[in-house]
Amino acid sequence: MKRILLFISVALFSLVLVVLIRTTGLKSKQLSVKPAPKVAIDTERAVENLAKAIQFKTISNQDPSKFDYQQFKDLHALLEELFPNVHGKLRKEPVNEYSLLYTWEGTDPELKPMLLMAHMDVVPIEPGTENNWTYPPFAGRIAEGYIWGRGSLDDKASLMGILGAAEFLLAEGYLPRRTIYLAFGHDEEIGGPNGAAKIADILESRGVQLEYVLDEGGAITKGMVPGLSESVALVGITEKGYVSIELVVEGQGGHSSMPPPHTAVGILSTAIHHLERNQFGARITGATKQMFAHLGPHMPFALRMLFANPWLFGKLIKSELAQSPPSNSLIRTTIAATMLEGSPKENVLPRKAKAVINFRILPGDTIDGIVAHVRKAINDERVRIGVLGKGRSPSAVSDVNSASYGVLARSILQVFPDVVIAPFLVVGGTDSRHYEEVSKNIYRFLPIRLVSEDYGRLHGTNERIAVENYAEVIRFYLQLIRNFNR
Ligand SMILES: [Zn+2]
Repeated sequence: MKRILLFISVALFSLVLVVLIRTTGLKSKQLSVKPAPKVAIDTERAVENLAKAIQFKTISNQDPSKFDYQQFKDLHALLEELFPNVHGKLRKEPVNEYSLLYTWEGTDPELKPMLLMAHMDVVPIEPGTENNWTYPPFAGRIAEGYIWGRGSLDDKASLMGILGAAEFLLAEGYLPRRTIYLAFGHDEEIGGPNGAAKIADILESRGVQLEYVLDEGGAITKGMVPGLSESVALVGITEKGYVSIELVVEGQGGHSSMPPPHTAVGILSTAIHHLERNQFGARITGATKQMFAHLGPHMPFALRMLFANPWLFGKLIKSELAQSPPSNSLIRTTIAATMLEGSPKENVLPRKAKAVINFRILPGDTIDGIVAHVRKAINDERVRIGVLGKGRSPSAVSDVNSASYGVLARSILQVFPDVVIAPFLVVGGTDSRHYEEVSKNIYRFLPIRLVSEDYGRLHGTNERIAVENYAEVIRFYLQLIRNFNR
């Protein structure tokens, strides 16, 4: 008995020791960088410029024929007026008329070019919510220390920030060593088929290989990572894939006074229920694993201990992350039943019931794998399963050890010395995925500062950016261009 107790004590002691050693051995991966001197930009003017850009209703519509293209033309004219140096010294090419590609020739043709991206289109205002806005969504109001309006965060802050930084540098007579492309799509919010995809095709057809691409996708968040009081700069290194699957059940139709025990709607509902009960497995891999490797060392001791010992606490970490939709979306392919259709009338049995399920695919999973999962989970031959459109696979994962990532991280820390940087899986989609053929190093980061409540403002009501934050956005692009051309 004594021996057994002794054995258990020794085993426990060793376990605790290993856990502690691993925890204290977890060292920060953060570069040590001095803040850059604050560049004296004309903030007041920059803020007014962004406010003006917000006033154009460059709204995306699922149907490209329903765009109000005049708004895009007017925005182009505004850009020409506000950024004379950019338009005097860079080559501007309209792509499919409404997207813009600028080429800023570098002095050293040996260096691979870089590309900065933004999109000019915005999402519509959801009907019925217009009056919930503190200031009208397209007024471009500057008030209470913020610039208000649709696009102030997504993504005109980026568009105007990039152009503002270029204008500033050109006015100083700055000559970049490497060629810089500025690429602004006009249809990102519907997937970028006529904008970013075409710009990427043009670059590919010219044999261009880019050192580096920067798009939106990550941000500076605060209070989003449990236990972490610092702001976190999330740099997207990959994005999830996307596919929608339609489920169809055929019924007999007829009068609802003499129904079968299960109508097409009932069978379909059961199928959806089974699917929701059979979620995809959780995995902490790839970008999410790297995110925790970067954040773990900055967490309080108890959490640090968990993340330093995934071999012991992996299950616990996953079940904790699964509790909230934002963190759950980082660790698995998600299932969202979004559309449903049955009979057209209350007393008519459905001839057909139809549902659409939207999946966001974790890197490592495939569309074929998802179809197989759906078939198995539903396990009912009466339910027809069909993939809508082509879907898209998860994007390639960009390297966090590349020189480009290092330059990006250094630039972030020079302008935002208060942040912890972490790589990140973008769960939505961005235009940058169109550039996979022309660059290995695709990063997704726009330094807008977001707290939890701001997430509802993106694509929602009262979108706004703090004046101070917008000045930081411009300084960040300035620093980045300079660092990439040293
Ligand atoms: Zn966007």
